[in-house]
Formats: sequence, C-alpha cells, structure tokens
Amino acid sequence: MKVGILGGGQLGRMLLQAAANYTVETFVLENDSNCPAAHLCHHFIKGDIKDFNTVYEFGKNLDAITIEIEAVNIEALEKLASEGVKIYPNPAAIRIIKNKITQKEFYKNNEIPSPNFLITNSLEELSAQTKFLPAVHKIGEGGYDGKGVQVLIEATDIAKGFDAPSVLEKMVDIQKEIALIIAVNDKGETAIYPAAEMLVNQQLNLLDYQVSPARLPENILWKAEAIALKVAKSLNSPGLFAVELFVDPQGNVWVNETAPRVHNSGHHTIEANYCSQYDMLWRIILNYPLGNTDPIMPSAIVNLLGAPEQNGKAIYKGLEEVLRMDQVFVHLYGKTHTKPGRKMGHVTIISSDYQDLIHQANKIKHLLEVNAE
Ligand code: ADP
Repeated sequence: MKVGILGGGQLGRMLLQAAANYTVETFVLENDSNCPAAHLCHHFIKGDIKDFNTVYEFGKNLDAITIEIEAVNIEALEKLASEGVKIYPNPAAIRIIKNKITQKEFYKNNEIPSPNFLITNSLEELSAQTKFLPAVHKIGEGGYDGKGVQVLIEATDIAKGFDAPSVLEKMVDIQKEIALIIAVNDKGETAIYPAAEMLVNQQLNLLDYQVSPARLPENILWKAEAIALKVAKSLNSPGLFAVELFVDPQGNVWVNETAPRVHNSGHHTIEANYCSQYDMLWRIILNYPLGNTDPIMPSAIVNLLGAPEQNGKAIYKGLEEVLRMDQVFVHLYGKTHTKPGRKMGHVTIISSDYQDLIHQANKIKHLLEVNAE
C-alpha cells in the first residue's frame, strides 16, 4: 500500500519508525525539507499541507492518507475521499475538530460533557461577556501548544483575549488533566489505551511530564473511558483519537479537546504498552487486527523542551548520564535548531513503582537540557 502523511514533525517521524515493520510505501508532505520525518519516509514531497492543489496532487495516486496535524486542506481530502482514497480520520471528523468552535458545538450536540461556553467573534463581543468570567478564551483556529489559549479571570483581562472567532469557556477547577487514546478501525471496532495523567508547565502552558496509567479511582477512570469512547463513536470515523479531559474535585469529568491523530500523550506507548499508538494507526490503515493496548509497565514521559533564551544549533547537556540510566528511553526528534520551549525530544521511563517513576522523571528533568551551541 502507498500511504501518505500530511505533516513531517515528530509525530510523523515516530509513525514512520513503526511503519518500518510493515510492507508499506510511505510518503510525507511538508514544507520544511529538514523536518523530523523527512529522512524516514520512502518519498518526501516538499509542499504546503494547507494548499488545495498541493494536497490533491500529493494524494491522488495514494491508497490512504493520514495526518499528524489538523491544519491541513480539508477540501482536497474531501475530493480525494470521493475518488476512493482512504483518509484516516475522515475529512468530516477533521473538519469538526480543526476549529474549536465547531468542536465545542459537536460536544454539545452529542451531549458529551465539556465546560459550558459561548462564542465571541471579536474583542468587542468578548468585552460584553464579563459576567461569564472567570473563563478561558480559545481561538477557533490556529492555536497550538498553549498559544491561542488565554485565561481571563476578571474584566481587566479582556484585552488579553483574541480579536477573532473564539470560544469562551467556563474555567474548570482542575484536579487532574488526563488523556485517553482510542483506536477505531474500518469495521467500527475500538481499542482504548489506559488514561495518562498530565502535568502542565504553567509558564509555557506546555505538557511538562506525564504518568500512565493515571492514578485515579476506578469509577472516575470508567467515566473517562465512557466519555472518550462516546467522542470517538460520535465522530463516526476510523482512526486514532486522543481525548483530553479534566477531572474536577467533585469527580466530574469534562472533555477539554480531541486530537484526531497520534498524540504527544501517547509517546510512552512505544515502550510501555504492547502495541504502540503508532503501530495501532498502521494496523487501522493497513486493515490488520487492532493491537493490545495493555500497559507492560507504568511509565512516565519527560518532554525535552528547548531551554529558555537558547536559540541556535542544539546540544544536549546531560545526555550521556541519562543514557546510562536503566529502563529509560531517549527520543531525539532530529531537529537541528533549538529555541525556547521547542519540543526537541522526549524521554520515557518505565518502572513498576510510581514513586520511582516520579523520582527518575525529576532527575532527568534536572540532568537533561537542550541548549544552543
Ligand atoms: P492547546 O490546544 O493549545 O493545548 P488547550 O485547550 O488544551 O490548548 O488548553 C491548554 C491548557 O489550558 C490546558 O491543558 C489547561 O491546563 C488549561 N485550560 C484549558 N481550558 C480550560 C478550562 N476550561 N478551565 C481551566 N483550565 C483550562
């Protein structure tokens, strides 16, 4: 089979690492010919994933296409789908998720618990909604990694909001953030990974480290699984879906957002679960049986972010020491240049003991630094 990936970042790179175990000819479309996925595919095509003609030309001779980012040209995918190219997930699901406004409306229409919200199209409209605060303002399109999200506590914060179509969402008292990955094949069969719990770096608004399976009471985990499954089923598409959820102090579970693709909250599945999320997506695309999502051992992920104020050719301080640690797996994404907060790699730790996981994760966070030469 000939399979294309739209986007050539680290998710594409890890997807291609898993593809090497199958007989599949891989194609990547991405603007940057030095991107993390460029050298691991059979065919790299330099081009804009947002451009109709580029995506259409890329896809018309392929059997299937998947995405590693939502900001793609959906019209081209729709045309390709109508001509028989399999798209994972289908373009309608990407369209719903791509814009936070349609995504929130989707949750509401399908009675999926997600924080209450209203829509604002401009700062002027936002300033009329001070009664709705404290809330979180989220730009409809174009936000990623915490950019495009602003916490608005009181009326004086309104100026921090977005002067563009956005969602204004009620602030949740978050006890824990978790994420669940669901696999859906062409027959509608599903497989669900155990929840991962995420700890966020408040400064950069980026995922800091993560532990899996999440430490939560069983009844809350069941609730979260049922909600995540409902999200995946309601999207009515084969593919892999990562559902991010909030757990509040009362034990309520709310959907934050969904990604219709392999996800950073599932990096640990490479070493810590029998079937990784990347392997799973190939099983779906190549029409093989779904894999086993069970954990082999609990795990933690430490993200390797570019250090503050470091811009330039990347060097990895402390790498040798980390590579000497047991049950620790280093992934560098092959990005030659670092900048503050840039995702440069991750480290997975596996251990049967959660205390040990947290201890090792903190040790690695202090040992390993991505600096500029
Ligand atoms: P992104 O798509 O950029 O990752 P998210 O929508 O996931 O943005 O929001 C980023 C972070 O902001 C979340 O991980 C969470 O910590 C915080 N956040 C988002 N929505 C809410 C909310 N309704 N209440 C409280 N915190 C929120």
